[in-house]
This record gives sequence, C-alpha cells and structure tokens, in this order.
Amino acid sequence: MVRTRYAPSPTGFMHIGNLRTALYEYLIARKNKGVFILRIEDTDQSRYVESAEDAIYETLKLTGLTFDEGPGIGGDFGPYVQSQRKADYLPHAQSLVEKGKAYYCFCEKERLDGLADERGLKKYDRHCLGLDAPEIRQKLESGGAYVIRQLIPDGKTTFHDEVFGEITIDNQEMEDQILIKSDGMPTYNFANVVDDHAMKITHVVRGSEYLTSTPKYKLLYEALGWELPLYVHLPLLQNTEGRKISKRHGDASIPQLLEMGFLPEAIINYAALLGWSPTDNREVFTLAELENIFEPKNISKSPSTFDMKKLTWMNAEHIKALPPEVFAEMALPYLQASVAKPGTDYAYLAKLTQPRVSFAKDCGELVDFIDALPDYDIELYTHKKMKTNPEIAKQALEVALTALKPLADWTHDGLGAAITSAAESNGLSKGQVLWPIRTALSGKPTTPCGATEICEILGKDETLCRIEKGLKKL
Ligand code: GLU
Repeated sequence: MVRTRYAPSPTGFMHIGNLRTALYEYLIARKNKGVFILRIEDTDQSRYVESAEDAIYETLKLTGLTFDEGPGIGGDFGPYVQSQRKADYLPHAQSLVEKGKAYYCFCEKERLDGLADERGLKKYDRHCLGLDAPEIRQKLESGGAYVIRQLIPDGKTTFHDEVFGEITIDNQEMEDQILIKSDGMPTYNFANVVDDHAMKITHVVRGSEYLTSTPKYKLLYEALGWELPLYVHLPLLQNTEGRKISKRHGDASIPQLLEMGFLPEAIINYAALLGWSPTDNREVFTLAELENIFEPKNISKSPSTFDMKKLTWMNAEHIKALPPEVFAEMALPYLQASVAKPGTDYAYLAKLTQPRVSFAKDCGELVDFIDALPDYDIELYTHKKMKTNPEIAKQALEVALTALKPLADWTHDGLGAAITSAAESNGLSKGQVLWPIRTALSGKPTTPCGATEICEILGKDETLCRIEKGLKKL
C-alpha cells in the first residue's frame, strides 16, 4: 500500500515550492490508490508560528489536496502533530545507544562553541564517546543536561533517489548529529525518520535541499533495522532572477496568490508543471486529470523557474474553463463596481468578459464604458485592416445615424441588417461602419463584444447620443 505524507514545519506560509511538494505526495498516493497523510513537524518550538499551521490546513483545503489521515481527522497512526508524539522518540534513541549506534553527550555549549572557533572544526569531536558506562550512569543520575548523538560509522553511504539517481557521500563529511536535544525533544531529522517509519510511509517527496542529509537518514534506518522509504527529491525552484524561491525571501505565499485573484485550480496546475511534465506537451489540467497521469519518473532534476507571467496565463485558461454561472458569481462584485446602469444584465457581461480576462477582477474595466464614455483620441478611428480613418469614420457615423434613428427593431439582428444595408448603399464595407460605431460607443481600442451588441446594451437613446458626440469630435 502506497502511503505518502506532506510533512510541513509550520514556520511560515506555504509558498509554491511547498505546495508542489504536497501536490506530488498527493498525486503519488492518488495514482496508486494509496493514502495521503498530513503530519505537522513542530519539534522546533522556537520557530513555531501558530497562524502558519492554520494556513496549512486552509491552503490544502482550498487547493483540494484532501488528506486521508492527519490532524483533525485522525487515523491509525496518530497523533499527526510531532509535539504530541514527544514520548515516542527517546526510546528509539536509547535503543540506538544500546546497539552502539548512538551515544550520550554531556558537552556544554561553551565547549562546543570553543571547538568550532579555535580548532576550526565544524564537526563534534566525539569527546563524550570516550566516557565509560559508570561515568555515563553517574552523569545521568545527577540530572545533568545531555543530548543523544548518532554515531556515524566509517566508510561511505549510498542511497537511491528516484529523481537524482544514486548518491554516495563519504561518511567523514557527516557529523555525529544530535537525535535528542537537551530539552528532551527530538531533532527534526530524528523525528522525521521515526515518524516516517511509524506511519509506514513508502514515498518521501521533498525539496533537493534535503539531499545532503539523506545519507544520515539511511544510516539511521539501517541502525534501527527499518526499511528505507523511496526518496523523491524535487529540483530546485527559482524565480525569474535565478534566486531560490523561499518563504524568507518574501516570495508570494499561496494565501497571497489567492488574494491576488489566482484560482486554486490554476495554482495547482502550475505547481504540477514545475519540474514535472507529461509525455505530450499538454499544459492545462484539472487536479482529477493529474491524479491519473502523474508519474514521478517524469520529474526532471534541472532547476525549474516560477514565472508569474506563466501563472497568469494559466489562470486565464482556468477562468475560461469555469462554468459560466460560477464565473458570473465571481465577477459580479467587479462588474457592479464598474457598471451601475439600471437594468444591466450582469450574467451577460460576465459571459462576454470571461474569455478575455486573466483575473475575475479585470472584467470591470472591460465594460466600464457602459456607464461613462471615456474621453478618447480620434486616432482610435484609424484601423488599417478595417480600412478606416477619421475621415471615413465621419462618413460612416453619419450613415449610421441616419440608418439607426428610425430603426424600431433594436435587436442584434435588426441592428445588423440596418447597418449592413446602409453600408452597402453608401459604398462602404461593413467593417468600415462597424468599427467607427464601436469606437464612438466605447471610446476604447478593444471591447469584449461588437458594435451591435454594444448598441443593444446601451439602448437607442444613448447609442444615438454617443454617435453624435463622435461626429462632433470628428
Ligand atoms: N518538515 C520539513 C519541511 O517543512 C519536511 C521535510 C521532509 O519532508 O522530510 O521542509
């Protein structure tokens, strides 16, 4: 049974890299009909941020990454918050001490600081490894502070990573890392191993910054006699300036992206493509589609770039795909803020703007001309392809005015027929009349609909009045 987990440390808001990790864990579980778990890694209490923990639940919920076991919902391997599992870690560390794979260390901070300074050593010098059993017992009984350190053996350690392949590290490069801190809490690395084993995790997906600590994990698994999960380290994620994306550098968090108007579907879709691609070149997917096609073996090891422009494009694609009534509801406050004309059909305006915006909030400005004609430059009447310029526009608007004034059938079809026949009988093309009308009615270079639709929206009086205004300008 495939069991994956997203194991965030609640020290800040999730950014796109964190979401990518969670998503890939989720997808591996779903693709294999497995279980996706959320585990909160809060052993470093000094960096704990309560609002960050809440935001993790909220972000996973909004993006649809529902977990099967975790805080709040429980499961057979709970609790799923490490600070609530405190009692589980020490016995494992003690068993390692008994096996000679770990040892007590009583060194005080001053000594350790001194080590690094004077001798230029970064590594712990194994001062306490030399203590004999009675000495250790006496120190423990006297209640002095201690830590438990992993004893790194000689030799080399090799492990397999699903993305980066075989990785070998000389054990000399590893320090005898602390497993249990002097406050009795496990270190992050130790708790992570103990819990992945306890929760029967089969796949560990995480950022490539953890690649270098993985050999230490492997040694721990071996020392404890446990089976190693499959490691899937993800490529580095950078911004368009080539800097690593991180919470600390102020890159937009997921709550901020949502606040900016990005749809959860678009963010998820974009996160999926940061380091992974399907075998064809398709780019737009729903979460349900990703669940079927995601393959960890298609994850690339080269760095991927988070590009706001691409995400914006992706958002427009997902906006287009929304059911019209869903978009209408989303767009309503923005349309209402821009158009107050009595009798306005907002659902219709939403339908017109939906295929043309990257964000729901942008639809208001596409139709704000309905309430008030902006002051525009007569150069707007020039359009090469339509073969119009201010001079032709003047003639066209006169023709239009004459044709529309007596028109009773003020509908799309009625307007279309009247304009076409007026154009024809005056030696103008249809476009040569429609373009100037659209310009006179909207004062904008682009509109979400054509001239006849705008005539309908504005109504007869306002239409004729704006055409007259245009003529005056010309
Ligand atoms: N708690 C770690 C983090 O927030 C997760 C590391 C892991 O997944 O093993 O980055």
